[in-house]
Formats: sequence, structure tokens, C-alpha cells
Amino acid sequence: MYTPVLEVNLGKIKYNARKIKNFCEKSNIEICAITKGFCAELPIVEAFIEGGLSFLGDSRIQNIIKVKKKFPHVKYMMIRIPKISEAEEVITYADISLQSQLEVIEVYSQKAISMGKVHNIILMIDVGDLREGVMPEDAEEMVGKILSMKGVNLIGVGTNVGCYGSIMPTVENATILINLRNRLEKIYDIKLPIISGGATSSLKLLRENKMPKEINNLRIGEAILLGEDSNNGILLEGYYQDAFILKAEVVELREKPSVPIGERGYDAFGNQPEYPDKGIRRRAILSIGRQDVRVEALTPVCPDMEILGASSDHLIVDVTDSKENTEPGSIIAFRCAYSAMLSLTTSPYVEKVFNP
Ligand SMILES: *Cc1c(COP(=O)(O)O)cnc(C)c1O
Repeated sequence: MYTPVLEVNLGKIKYNARKIKNFCEKSNIEICAITKGFCAELPIVEAFIEGGLSFLGDSRIQNIIKVKKKFPHVKYMMIRIPKISEAEEVITYADISLQSQLEVIEVYSQKAISMGKVHNIILMIDVGDLREGVMPEDAEEMVGKILSMKGVNLIGVGTNVGCYGSIMPTVENATILINLRNRLEKIYDIKLPIISGGATSSLKLLRENKMPKEINNLRIGEAILLGEDSNNGILLEGYYQDAFILKAEVVELREKPSVPIGERGYDAFGNQPEYPDKGIRRRAILSIGRQDVRVEALTPVCPDMEILGASSDHLIVDVTDSKENTEPGSIIAFRCAYSAMLSLTTSPYVEKVFNP
């Protein structure tokens, strides 16, 4: 067995996908299932599709191209504001893109015309998180200009929260988006059928029956993959949280003091951590490190173990209270949160195994 290995349970992902689809369908919300958190690994994409989700979204054009070549029938949305330099690929492979900048949209329009195509776009509106999007008061003028461009077709408005400004989705910020859509439809006598209201963190409004009925699209990654809503700090009841399990191998097992000995500087990553004195502890060193995974997003499956720290290539786990075998050569398992899944699927040093 090669280690470290990321074991992915496709059945659990399929279950989560189907459950969330059924839940959102009741409110007439279409899901755009986001594939960027796992490098659009094809077996996982297939689990999405088998779970009923074939409208997909990704931030990286390479992922979109890879999936479209394997599953040409899926609909794909480019969810990162696309680059001018990738216009041709985005227009060729993405069915829709989220857009926010007039100069970029102008290039996409010209490019689409030259390719004999019309490219569908959703205009991102900034309702307060201050990442991408036009400010609501500037949208009217911008939409006027977009409507004069022949190569793009404006099909809706969208917003993103909880990313830069850690602003939570609320009825208030959803209402800004809805009112703006309604005003734009009236002023320009157009139809903007899609209102894309957010991501996993917006599901909370839906569960609490507070989601305005006009919101008809959500872009969901984390909830399907990990059954978690980390913006709100909650695990979603009835969903699998353990579809992604990391297994790493013990290379040293020793009892050592818990406080380092000697003059203190900085650790390998420029931090000065505190070391509470818990006396002599039994510590396993695992052959995985920060080059492979964002350590803070790992949780040992065995509740009696605790991660003490990590450097580029080594992870130190306190196993004093554990009854598991932790001898060198044994395997310790971890549950992954989003950034661990992201880093592990990106790392060439981590084996990926897909189980049905
Ligand atoms: C990543 C991303 C999402 C999905 O977020 P989750 O929290 O994984 O559901 C939605 N929209 C945009 C624009 C994103 O970049």
C-alpha cells in the first residue's frame, strides 16, 4: 500500500448529491455542483452525475475541459471571473460564465462573434462581501452596455458571499439581488431568468424556510462533498461527513516531553507556537506534511488522538491516550475539511483511491 493515500467513498458523495438535489428541488432551486475542491477528479464527477447533478461549475478552465471531454452532455459554468487570455477556451467549453468586468465581457463578446457563437453570462453583483461583482448602484448602466453586445447573452444575476469579507447570506442581501434583477427586467424590458444566490452557506436560509422564492440557483460544493457548512460552522444532519479519508503512515513512535528544549526562535513556517506542558507524551510522527495537506483541516478519526503540529514533511500526533496500534508502519486515518480535500487532491505525492 502506497501512503499517504486519500480514500474517496463515491457512494457517500452520490448519496449526499441526491439528498441535496431533492431538498433544493422542493424550492425550485437548481444546483450548480462545484467541482473545483477536488481538481474535478473524474470518478467524483461521475458520482455527482449519478446522484442527479449534471449542471456543474468550476473555477479552472483545465478542469472544465477535462470533464467536458469525458462527459460532453454536462452543462458547465465557469465560476471564477474568467481571464481575458482564456476567452476562446471558456467560450468553447463553458456553457455559462460568471462575469463582473465590462472590459472582459467586451472581449468575450468579440471573441464569441468571431467564433460564430453567443456566450451566456451571469452578472455578479457585490452585496457586501467585497470579492467579485459590480456594486448594485452601478449595475444598471453596465447592463445597458452589455445588452448592446451581440456575442454575449445575459441570462441572470448572481452573488457571492462568505469568501473575502466573511459576510453571511441573509434575506437582506438576497433581497438586494432580487430587487435589482426586477428593476433591470423592467427598465430594459428583458428577462433575467437565473438568480444565483450563493453557495453551501446559503442552504441554512433554505432549511430555515427564509430563502426568498426568487432565488432559483445555488452553487454547491462543500455540502455535497463533506456534508459540512464551514462558514456557519455546522455539520449537516443526515449527510455523510467522511467521504474523504486521509491515511498516513507512522515512521517514528517515541515518548518525549511536550515542551521543546533550548532557545526559542521561529518554526519552519515563521510562527512561534505555544507548547502547553502536559508532561511526557507518546508521539507518532507520520510521513506527511504541509507540502501535501493543510494540516489545520485534518481531524483524526480516532477521537483520542490529537495533532500537535507539522512541518513540510512530518506530522506529529499525540497518541498517548489511544488504544490503536501506532507502531511504525501502522496507519492513522483523518477526516478532511475543505482545504485538506483541496490540497490533498492537488498534491502529486498523495495517492488517490476511489471506492464505490
Ligand atoms: C467555490 C465556489 C462556490 C462553492 O462554494 P461551497 O462553499 O463549496 O459550496 C460557489 N460559488 C463560487 C463563485 C465559488 O468560487
